[in-house]
Amino acid sequence: MTSFRVGILGATGAVGQKFIRILENHPWFQITTLGASKRSAGKLYAEAANWIESSPMPEKVKELEVLECKSELFSDVDFVFSGLDSSVATEIEGDFASAGIPVISNAKNYRTDPTVPLLIPEVNPDHIDLIHEQRFTKDGSGWIVTNPNCVAVPLTTSLKPLQDAFGISSLVVTSMQAISGAGYPGVPSLDIMGNVIPFIGGEESKIRQEPLKLLGTLSDGAVRYADFPVEATATRVPVINGHLLSITVGLKKNAELELIRETMENWKSPIHDLDLPSAPEFPLKVHADPRYPQPRLHADSEGGMQTAIGRIRTAHVLDVSYIAMAHNTVRGAAGGAVLNAELLVRKGFLK
Ligand code: NAP
Repeated sequence: MTSFRVGILGATGAVGQKFIRILENHPWFQITTLGASKRSAGKLYAEAANWIESSPMPEKVKELEVLECKSELFSDVDFVFSGLDSSVATEIEGDFASAGIPVISNAKNYRTDPTVPLLIPEVNPDHIDLIHEQRFTKDGSGWIVTNPNCVAVPLTTSLKPLQDAFGISSLVVTSMQAISGAGYPGVPSLDIMGNVIPFIGGEESKIRQEPLKLLGTLSDGAVRYADFPVEATATRVPVINGHLLSITVGLKKNAELELIRETMENWKSPIHDLDLPSAPEFPLKVHADPRYPQPRLHADSEGGMQTAIGRIRTAHVLDVSYIAMAHNTVRGAAGGAVLNAELLVRKGFLK
């Protein structure tokens, strides 16, 4: 396997640090270049980053100089991961793609662009072909792929088997989101300690829209969105890692609870046989114990890449209710983007 030289945009932030931690011993991807804002540029990474990961900062990045996020400074990389603040991601990611540098992004900015794949490898790997519709460069060398909002990931992964087997007619979801989802320093401690904040700005529209693109069908170079109403409530809770969701689904076909449970338990991801280094053995884990899943116990399962579900039960409103949970900065951000990159390698988009 070829080794790829990788840059990280937004390397000093919470997601950027997670990229650095996840890629420390990656078999295919070597970090060569780090970028952040003008505030950090010119400093060594060890000085620029306020390291918040629980394992030590990897030696390999400590002495790298942080650069400004300008494509001409990243000419040595094969592609970049982006953990950029959304206030700057449109311009910077567009600049990199236009310079022929593929961008694998966590930011929301290009997720709804009709030519940009919004990708969960286990859910919609075929959407990768949207890349052919992009026009950042004449020769197709520069493009952008995005991963979804950190709630949309466990939500849509858990909906996928239901959508395929029974069809979905409606969805109600309430998220209980960890504080690490707000970046660093994030939510003031006086707001969140011993408290629940019943509103996260901009979050509910992403939770309503992104699963419909992810569960949509690709034909003639465009995604036709899935078509069902979604009601979403996003709350912030005093949990460090792991977004937990209460989900109620209406199904198009009637199904006994046992069949629904078996369908979720037996679901096999379409990338199961691709042998991708970051792919979890079981992307969806159904817990039988009604006390599970819990963020503190299960957010790190399978390296933080698993979506855990539990409490599957008949709903008194609509058809079926359950709980889903996944690690928001791993599966919902950096780890998801690394898995996207691995799929892009396997499919020949990264060479
Ligand atoms: P963060 O901790 O605030 O980090 C933001 C990064 O962007 C920093 O490296 C910062 O560099 C850089 N930046 C800010 N302004 C810049 C500029 N003008 N030019 C270049 N770089 C600039 O945020 P985060 O939580 O890591 O989130 C990063 C992105 O991922 C956001 O778009 C967020 O919505 C998305 N995301 C986050 C999560 C999560 O769970 N946290 C999940 C999914 C997606 P400096 O340090 O130099 O300021």
